[in-house]
Amino acid sequence: METQDPKDRDIGPTPPDTCRDVDPTGFAADRYYIDGQWVRPGSDADHRALINPATETAIVSIPLAGADDVDRAVGAARRAFDAGGWRDAPVEKRSHVLQLVAEGLAKRQEELAQSISLEVGSPIDFAREHQVGRALQHVSATIDALHGMAVEMPFDGGRAGGSPTRDFLRYEPRGVAALITPWNWPLNQMVLKLIGGLAAGCSIVLKPSELAPLTGLVFADIVGTALADGEVPDGVFNLINGDGPGAGAALCSHAGVDLISFTGSTATGRTIARLAAENVTPVQLELGGKSANILFADCDVDLAVRQGVAHCFRNSGQACNAASRMLVHTAIYDDVVEIAGRIANETRVASPRENGRHLGPLISVQQFDRVQRYIQLGIDQGARLIAGGPGRPTGLSTGYYVRPTVFADVTPEMAIFQDEIFGPVLSLSRFNDEDEAIMLANASAYGLAGYIQTQDNAMALRVARRLDVGMVQINGTSRAPGTPFGGRKASGYGREAGLAGIRAFQDLKSLSGIRLVD
Ligand code: NAD
Repeated sequence: METQDPKDRDIGPTPPDTCRDVDPTGFAADRYYIDGQWVRPGSDADHRALINPATETAIVSIPLAGADDVDRAVGAARRAFDAGGWRDAPVEKRSHVLQLVAEGLAKRQEELAQSISLEVGSPIDFAREHQVGRALQHVSATIDALHGMAVEMPFDGGRAGGSPTRDFLRYEPRGVAALITPWNWPLNQMVLKLIGGLAAGCSIVLKPSELAPLTGLVFADIVGTALADGEVPDGVFNLINGDGPGAGAALCSHAGVDLISFTGSTATGRTIARLAAENVTPVQLELGGKSANILFADCDVDLAVRQGVAHCFRNSGQACNAASRMLVHTAIYDDVVEIAGRIANETRVASPRENGRHLGPLISVQQFDRVQRYIQLGIDQGARLIAGGPGRPTGLSTGYYVRPTVFADVTPEMAIFQDEIFGPVLSLSRFNDEDEAIMLANASAYGLAGYIQTQDNAMALRVARRLDVGMVQINGTSRAPGTPFGGRKASGYGREAGLAGIRAFQDLKSLSGIRLVD
């Protein structure tokens, strides 16, 4: 593997004779960031075309790390962790470095938004405002959490008084953390994991989704520069690009990895947990969802439906916490069906390069086919199609665009009630009372988020407490950036963001028998 001088981080396009391809953001795509340097892929790296979801044409070809590349990245992270320096850095230093990361992200937010829009298909204004904007807030929340975080503290475990020694508890970084992220909020997922891991004192090997590698490269450049400026030892942060069965699986099976933090589908989460079990490597799993949005009869119907449909269609429905099942009290059901259908019909679908609040394409042809299959299944299983349906929107014959779709009269036996579709497809179901609403909301294998719309605060709290999910939002209130993010059941285990997101990368050690005065 060849290396480049780390000072070449801003080199822009690498000459074509030394680099297979250059992506349109001006980045050489054929490289990884390992041990403080941009390096060429090893000889076992395969390549894959990255497809623009709006045009179905190849953007660039990206390397897929093989076992050698994974080994090299893990080795660098391992050495950096074992040598100390970062793992023992005081809170002030960690916070300073995170601040440098935040500044780098803020400075290059347009570049990040452009790469997300290009490879994920998020409309550019959405990419700027939501994809990048939210990620920036997470860094500040983690810096805040870091300031108040206890690392070592006295512990009275019920020991009888008069002991000449004291007990302590210590939170220590777990070691080398492998971060494996999805494509749908590419920056957000990388940021959440990276800042939690860095704040905890871990060394990092990041593998972004093979469908969003360019954002990963820009991100690595920002992080690498910030860490170098903050005099963090080389090897604390490393990035490889690669696919799941290759680089992803090699990382999860690597004996040098001490923790795997994964965000992605439930099916992949299961595979990763099995791979990790071989080395007894702890795993955090942020997986899929099929979240219920409960509309009680006393809610502001117009507002609740408008917000609910928009939430389900956000990022073209490609959000783990999408409110994709709208459960509606029978007294307002017909009105809700009418309004939801109208809003879906009015929802514009257009190129991600256009400004505005429209929906872009889905990420890939596989995702397009999957969503089409579910729309057809909804029809075949007897749900009532209110808006949208199979096929592409009028005038969009190229690109993975789908029609914003709403089904009414959806029941728990139907696939569209149970399965994560990951497209702009909303299901409406009817309930008669509070207990039935809760029963329907919980009638899912998933348990990520829940949404409640009502003026009755006491009922909102009662219902929120009975939902089998990790997060509940009432009357459209957003989560504060440091709020722990994660779910239960098939939505996984573990939490990200804020203090919980730092603790996820630490392990608790007890110290007994420390004499207070020598
Ligand atoms: P995915 O599971 O296909 O891929 C996610 C990542 O896992 C990618 O980097 C991929 O390369 C890697 N991977 C795939 N197979 C692997 C293997 N065998 N070993 C190791 N790594 C492997 O998911 P996706 O399509 O990229 O993302 C969409 C999914 O992510 C949805 O289900 C969505 O709900 C979920 N998601 C969850 C959250 C959350 O916080 N709960 C957030 C965003 C997305």
